[in-house]
Amino acid sequence: MQKIEHVGIAVKELSVSVPLFEKLLNTKCYKTETVDSEQVNTAFFALGENKIELLEANSEASVINKFISKKGEGLHHIAFEVEDIEAEIKRLKDEGFTLLNEKPKQGADNKMVCFLHPKETNGVLIELVMERKVRTE
Ligand code: ZN
Repeated sequence: MQKIEHVGIAVKELSVSVPLFEKLLNTKCYKTETVDSEQVNTAFFALGENKIELLEANSEASVINKFISKKGEGLHHIAFEVEDIEAEIKRLKDEGFTLLNEKPKQGADNKMVCFLHPKETNGVLIELVMERKVRTE
């Protein structure tokens, strides 16, 4: 794994939390994006090399909705950048970790992503992210 790519924070309302984080970080949200596969709306802030991702549920069935009703708003996941997500998934499986999705899937911010089950990572949801290579032909 390489650097921490972003930290994900579950919030009830982006309309409240985006202005709050703009004030806190003294920087503007540079992007909002809906991720249909996760049923979330996301908002991103850049801090040097790292990012903060705010996540809001956009449906009752969203994992963020479940998370907030169980634990309340707050730290949701830490995302690590990897160079080769398939290789990293294989390495982690061989090490005995459980992956929530065995095949990388489309995440926010033009990334391929994969999540690790928090039961084996001290309760912290871990996301692997790999920049999607844009085909040029
Ligand atoms: Zn994330």
